[in-house]
Amino acid sequence: MDAAMRIPNPGDQAKAPGLMAKNRPLEFAPPGSDELLEKTVRTMGCPSPEAAGPAVVRAVGDLYETMCSWLEPASLFSWTQLDSIEKGAILAGDVRVPSAKWARLASICEDATGLVAFAVTIGTRIEAGIKELSETSLVSSYVADAMASVLAEHFADAAEDHAAASLADAGLHGTSRFSPGYCDLPLEAGQKALTTLLDPLPAGLRVMPSGLMRPRKSVTAFLVAARHVPHKTPCFLCARDCPHRREPR
Ligand code: SF4
Repeated sequence: MDAAMRIPNPGDQAKAPGLMAKNRPLEFAPPGSDELLEKTVRTMGCPSPEAAGPAVVRAVGDLYETMCSWLEPASLFSWTQLDSIEKGAILAGDVRVPSAKWARLASICEDATGLVAFAVTIGTRIEAGIKELSETSLVSSYVADAMASVLAEHFADAAEDHAAASLADAGLHGTSRFSPGYCDLPLEAGQKALTTLLDPLPAGLRVMPSGLMRPRKSVTAFLVAARHVPHKTPCFLCARDCPHRREPR
């Protein structure tokens, strides 16, 4: 990309805001206990439940129902038409998303027309529960914290699917989600852009000046919407040795 790429308005943009109307509810079903166990032990750095050991497996089983009962999921989506794509940023309305890698991906999408932003949280009760557990069992509290991370990611996956389905209704496709603090999108600048687009945030969710969130088990993310998306992520263009890689080079 040599200069800013201006985004033409393809004419059906008027439909898009309705698709991503603020406060559109998102149903959230937690994963089954076996799936949660598998993902929890991986989050803890173990390749399998067997490798994690019986104490961890038992703790996940014992905590499953309680953790699910503590869920207080809330979500919020927004849609903003893209104005332009620069070499190092995506511009939409008053917002600048400073990521050269995702701007590059947007530039090779066909008719990249919109920026979806969303925020999801599994709520404050689960945070309080993890703290309560730490007073009686550090193992339970550690396992519960990993379970909560998995539940928040599972909710973010559901939000991404929800956005993709809404875009498909309008004949559009979404890239994969990308979050502040990952890839080359700085945490503070990314959260500033997100909180401009999602104002107010879902009930109970706060973004600190540092970009960190309260409750901790929350996810914010963007997706680029386009008529055709040749790759879901910019990883295929990237040579970096990165733990978050989602596509081969
Ligand atoms: S490999 Fe990592 S740094 Fe490179 S585009 Fe993918 S997520 Fe970003």
